[in-house]
Amino acid sequence: MSNSDSDWPSVVAHADMDAFYAAVEQMDNPELRGKPVLVGPPSGRGVVLTASYEARPYKVGSAMPMFKARKLCPEAVIVPPRFERYTEVSRTIMGVFADFSPRVEAISLDEAFIDLTGSEDLLGSPDTIGLSLKNAVREATGGLTVSVGISGTKYVAKVASDFQKPDGLTIVPPDEARAWLAPMPVSRLWGAGPVTQKKLQALGLHTIGDVAACGDDWLDEKLGAMGRRFNQLAQGQDPRVIEGRRGSKSVGSERTLAQDISDPEQIKFYLRRSAEQVGQRLRRKTRVAWGVQVKLKTSDFRSLTRQHQRERPTDVAEDIYNDGVMLLEKFDDPGPFRLVGLSAYDIEQSGEDLQGDLFSQGPMRRHDLEVAIDDLKERFGSNVLKRADDLARARQTPNLDFLGDEDKEGEQ
Ligand SMILES: [Mg+2]
Repeated sequence: MSNSDSDWPSVVAHADMDAFYAAVEQMDNPELRGKPVLVGPPSGRGVVLTASYEARPYKVGSAMPMFKARKLCPEAVIVPPRFERYTEVSRTIMGVFADFSPRVEAISLDEAFIDLTGSEDLLGSPDTIGLSLKNAVREATGGLTVSVGISGTKYVAKVASDFQKPDGLTIVPPDEARAWLAPMPVSRLWGAGPVTQKKLQALGLHTIGDVAACGDDWLDEKLGAMGRRFNQLAQGQDPRVIEGRRGSKSVGSERTLAQDISDPEQIKFYLRRSAEQVGQRLRRKTRVAWGVQVKLKTSDFRSLTRQHQRERPTDVAEDIYNDGVMLLEKFDDPGPFRLVGLSAYDIEQSGEDLQGDLFSQGPMRRHDLEVAIDDLKERFGSNVLKRADDLARARQTPNLDFLGDEDKEGEQ
């Protein structure tokens, strides 16, 4: 698609590594190159985390039970995942993205939005930037390929990065986005799961173009706010901005309880939940926090807070939780409490220097583990990972047998 004469009010790239875990394994072990590779627990009770492109003609893909994948593709080599290695490569990739723009929003270990608005003078046209980005990733990683989509919004950029996988580059000028999306099935609408797809089809809407052609009032009437949003996306519009380096001064999570509580163990349970959410949000924005605050609201609606300034910043849920527990001891009001909240403040971008320093030491191993878990949640949903979380809590290295209850064979 040409873009020389197009108007680009904003330039958004979505970069997504191709078969990331499997590609890393093939890069590190030349014997695996050209062969179907399945990354996942070898015991057969878990799911495929990533299938190499050589395995895909056998209709094998992510999230498929391993026993089924082995049946479909008996010659596949099964490789247990090495999250520390993937995290290491991920840092390299994110570092490359950061060379192109200070506004990078990492979505998972191998995927990010990059806001390139205003970079054209420095870096060239969107096609030029896309090619440089791909080359830079290949060079920095020692041969890995990334698929890149560039358009004017996050949504279209994301659909575009998937359009010519693997090793793709798809440029969709903003004023061509609507026409480009039109023939695609409604399953490509962001947020349209199987149930919603059925609803759309029942309304006679099969392509994104069908959705774009409806009045948004009509869609709103049929599907509520979701319908209005689909209509907007189908026009190639997406109000979401890239959450890059600048932004919120604090990240918090609090919940009002169905029943007032005063038992510290119960309070800690909610602090744990909040710490996990706060940590995940910080990591997603590649930020770290210097401060942690606990907030409790008494049954008679008094808000009490205690806060703590850390010696080094963190994005690790475990650290945030430990600070929260320490702060909990500083409250003299015995409760009962109707709300428990935890927030991180004094937030800054987790810079390269800081990471380099931290990665060589203890706390970053925990960071790596939590990042790997974020990534799995992103791919498979949070339920499938309950057990991984439990293991993480026990400060173990990732164990990929989290899908089988008693199975103890996984990678240690
Ligand atoms: Mg990917």
